[in-house]
Amino acid sequence: MLEDKNPQKTSIDQLGEFGLIDHLTKNFQIKHASTIKGIGDDAAVLNFGTNKMVVSTDFLIEGVHFDLAYMPLKHLGYKAVTVNLSDICAMNAKPTQITVSIAVSNRFPLEAIEELYEGIALAAEIYKIDIIGGDTTSSQKGLLLSITAIGEAKEEEIVYRNGAKATDLLVVSGDIGSAYMGLQVLEREKQVFQVNPNNQPDLENYTYLIERQLKPEARTDIKELLEKLEVKPTAMIDISDGLSSEIIHLCKQSEVGCNLYEEKLPLDPQLITVCEEFKIDSTTIAINGGEDYELLFTIPIDDFSKIKGNPNLTVIGHMVNKKEGIHLITRANEAIELKSLGWNSFTK
Ligand code: ADP
Ligand code: MG
Repeated sequence: MLEDKNPQKTSIDQLGEFGLIDHLTKNFQIKHASTIKGIGDDAAVLNFGTNKMVVSTDFLIEGVHFDLAYMPLKHLGYKAVTVNLSDICAMNAKPTQITVSIAVSNRFPLEAIEELYEGIALAAEIYKIDIIGGDTTSSQKGLLLSITAIGEAKEEEIVYRNGAKATDLLVVSGDIGSAYMGLQVLEREKQVFQVNPNNQPDLENYTYLIERQLKPEARTDIKELLEKLEVKPTAMIDISDGLSSEIIHLCKQSEVGCNLYEEKLPLDPQLITVCEEFKIDSTTIAINGGEDYELLFTIPIDDFSKIKGNPNLTVIGHMVNKKEGIHLITRANEAIELKSLGWNSFTK
């Protein structure tokens, strides 16, 4: 359904591995003092001085994590970077460098890899990240992409998953559920297109949802915001697999329980409208849908006044003693055990 923007097709064999690496990386500029040596030697050299370094890595496999039928390569490159930066943000650290490793089959011409790298380079530009290395190889079938993100933080700034106290408030940034519904819209349009390729999708009413799916952003702003508000989270995680699953991770690691309030869930109006259209319960989507890349964290209850009313942050619940369990409190004031909602069998 996406037009081929690259009518020109240059075989990557023409360039060879080193030619390709050079072609893809020749314009990358170093932005951070911590990057002593980037691309071009056997390894990159970094120096964080007295700060700590945080590292996270992810693999993206064609047909498993993305579908090129509706995921333009430029968006894929952008998203591959931002989802990794999100993991660094979830440690309350500042992302500074990435490495990018790709394996490509000969189905992809040079122009396709260039498009992928445009997205990677754009994200690196916007988030001020140094691309310091990677690996380039061939694959028998499809595209594989692995990004490692590196960040820095003072030791006392780093926030783990295990620090939540039974009296803390549970806070989420932004809104949730939209990325999952964006995927549902794209899947539906793909099926319509497969039945009749002349059917051009009309996506106007779904722009926010689709953008949340195809072009998620990393919440690098939250660390700065919390610093300004003088709030330090006690525990933090990013929402990649869905709110319910991430709450359970936080609770397990912190050895606490949680009450999550249905009426507090921050939902975009477009999500509500589209859930009605699809006849799906928006609470189920908000709780179980993944890929929002928002930050979920706990703060001491005494800090409530500092974050109250901030448009970027919503208090959605509070932690309780472990023995009280993990519950969703519905609008009807019923307590439903979170795992019993079926998040485990929820297939994406
Ligand atoms: P090696 O043989 O040591 O693996 P390579 O020839 O693969 O080295 O890589 C040469 C340099 O280019 C290294 O600095 C490596 O990190 C970098 N590099 C290789 N592939 C990529 C890529 N896809 N994106 C960014 N940098 C890359
Ligand atoms: Mg190599």
